[in-house]
Amino acid sequence: MRRATKTAPRAAILAWEDDPKSGGKPIKRPVPRLGATPLALAITGPAVPAKRYRLGTREFRYWAAAEALRRGADFWGALLPRSTRWQPGRTLRVTLDAGVDLNAYYDRRGLSFFHDTVGRTTVYSGESPDVVCHELGHAVLDALRPELWDAMSVEVAAFHESFGDLSALLAGLQLPSLRRAVLSETGARIGRSSRLSRLAEQLGWALRQILPGSAEPDCLRNAVNPFFYRAPETLPPSGPSSSLTAEPHSFSRVFTGGWFEALAGMLAVRASSPTEADLLQVSLDAGRLLVDAIPAAPIVADYGSQVAAHLIESDAELFRGRYRDALKSALVRRGILSLQTASIVTGPGPGAKARRARRTAPAAGESHTRRLSLSADEFGFEGRALFVEAPGEARRFDVASAAEDLGSRTAPAPTLEARRFVEYLFRRGRVDLGAHGRAETRVVHPFARKTHELVPQAEDFALVRRTFDCGFDPVS
Ligand SMILES: [Zn+2]
Repeated sequence: MRRATKTAPRAAILAWEDDPKSGGKPIKRPVPRLGATPLALAITGPAVPAKRYRLGTREFRYWAAAEALRRGADFWGALLPRSTRWQPGRTLRVTLDAGVDLNAYYDRRGLSFFHDTVGRTTVYSGESPDVVCHELGHAVLDALRPELWDAMSVEVAAFHESFGDLSALLAGLQLPSLRRAVLSETGARIGRSSRLSRLAEQLGWALRQILPGSAEPDCLRNAVNPFFYRAPETLPPSGPSSSLTAEPHSFSRVFTGGWFEALAGMLAVRASSPTEADLLQVSLDAGRLLVDAIPAAPIVADYGSQVAAHLIESDAELFRGRYRDALKSALVRRGILSLQTASIVTGPGPGAKARRARRTAPAAGESHTRRLSLSADEFGFEGRALFVEAPGEARRFDVASAAEDLGSRTAPAPTLEARRFVEYLFRRGRVDLGAHGRAETRVVHPFARKTHELVPQAEDFALVRRTFDCGFDPVS
């Protein structure tokens, strides 16, 4: 008799590895302890007993979401500085079904997921580990670098979206079965399109049924994509998924694509015939680089190039430059760093002391961004001012992204960048105006989703972020 039959079977639940529509089957996983620390989580509503449930049931979805949440939080929790806390408090609260919608979002209260029926299929955004770990990524980045939240900049908002996708990719790579699947599917060349790189296949499918072109042909976003950096102000505010636009989810694909290409390069540097263990180690190293680089990278209009330079610096410090060529190659090939400025970051960065200081919380009254007063006249609020946070930190590396023709792009002034992003938000109807302003002059966009809101300040307003959502512009 086999020994295993004598011991009680370890409690297990069934969960998805990446997405209900990725082609994978549910796998058995240990029961996740949601409240474990660091990065405690709680799902609102009554708890569901830990068992293996039938696909398509609420109970199955509960444990699929719980498993993905814990997996993502365990990955980041092991890498973040010990003092890191969720912005909403000790425990991040998660609502798995907040009503009818094709959406998911993080606000500073928690994560919310929704359901909607398209054709005869009901899609629950909280059932997909890709979507769950993307939203969790927003919460993780908000804990690591809270100043990004209100910074008025396309590149900063796009980086938040990119980090969500990186979180989904890295959380997926913590599963041995998915590592084996992606190595097999790509012949160990993970830079090729695969189940791993295709994110949120099911939500992407649903969005395409409603608005063709609103998602990529085989998923919501693919980390393997051909996009080269463009100055966001040269791009339209919306467009089909086949083209790059200044909409943050669309623009996020430049950084995600460059980072994923770098990840594939890191794996190739590590081993010519990489194993599942190599892939795990590279995912951990890539996570360490992000957690090290992001707090040090100043918030500026061309934020992607600063993050890129800091990733290269972090690699020099943490891994003695082992991944330098993989990182530089991918970041230059995507134009995130211009060819000319990429050589600057090979030298030692400004002193480690200043770097450490950068990682500590800002002193009271010190702001990482720069408060700016804009005229609200053109948004229908005559004679009022609009206070916003402009991306105006001091640059640590004198680097830039690529220009379209030759050399480097000239970064816009923080004021101009903030002004452009505010116009983008108003133009696309992303600002909740509340009852403010005169009906004759204001443009309210009753059907567009709101990511920002106006907060009255005496006679004027502050424009602040409310959520990072899934970016889909609904059709009423
Ligand atoms: Zn997002």
